[in-house]
Amino acid sequence: MNKLIVGNWKMNGTLELVDEFLEGLNNNVIVGLPIIFIAYAKSKNPNFQIAAQDCSIFNDFGAHTGEVSAKMLSESGCKYVIIGHSERRKTFDSDSISNILKKLQNAVLNGMTAILCVDEKYDELLDSQTVEFLKNHKSQVVLAYEPLSAIGTGIVPSISEISDVLKNLKSKYFGIRTIYGGSVNSKNAKEILDIDSVDGVLIGGASLKLDEINAIAKFA
Ligand code: PEP
Repeated sequence: MNKLIVGNWKMNGTLELVDEFLEGLNNNVIVGLPIIFIAYAKSKNPNFQIAAQDCSIFNDFGAHTGEVSAKMLSESGCKYVIIGHSERRKTFDSDSISNILKKLQNAVLNGMTAILCVDEKYDELLDSQTVEFLKNHKSQVVLAYEPLSAIGTGIVPSISEISDVLKNLKSKYFGIRTIYGGSVNSKNAKEILDIDSVDGVLIGGASLKLDEINAIAKFA
């Protein structure tokens, strides 16, 4: 199976940048776009691979101001949803462990693959109900190991540490797909993607530069 290359634009980007990516992006890459750009990108190129950066805990239509459901995302053509990113967990109480499970359920129920972010404290984040869910839906969940010390810092753990942690996650959680995130760029991506237990990478800052992300995608 090809390694997953997932970008996360966070709250960045413009329509001009979307157009640049629609024009020139390697078609292996999944782009985590801000919600506002998703329908536009899909209408221009139905094959463009998009991840949403979050979904609601609610699945049905209703009085949930500001929320976007997994069902809406799926209907807009998203195949992936990033869930529980540490930037959300540290900022919003709504990204509690129990709500993360609801989001996972909604993403999977609507046919998408959930990219569940965990950090050094993955044991605490993955409570027994979440683990049971992972066990039953592992083909539709990817665990993204994103050490807090590596996100946006330029500091990447050693290759042996990444290898060991992901191997451990895989064996503990039923062979689930495991990807690495944290300061990946075109210079370190090959070494990281060459690790057996690494099934892909989640890329923040470098995913906003077309040349960078295309260079990384070549190593997948
Ligand atoms: C991220 O925020 O998921 C991330 C990996 O960011 P960066 O690549 O910028 O460290």
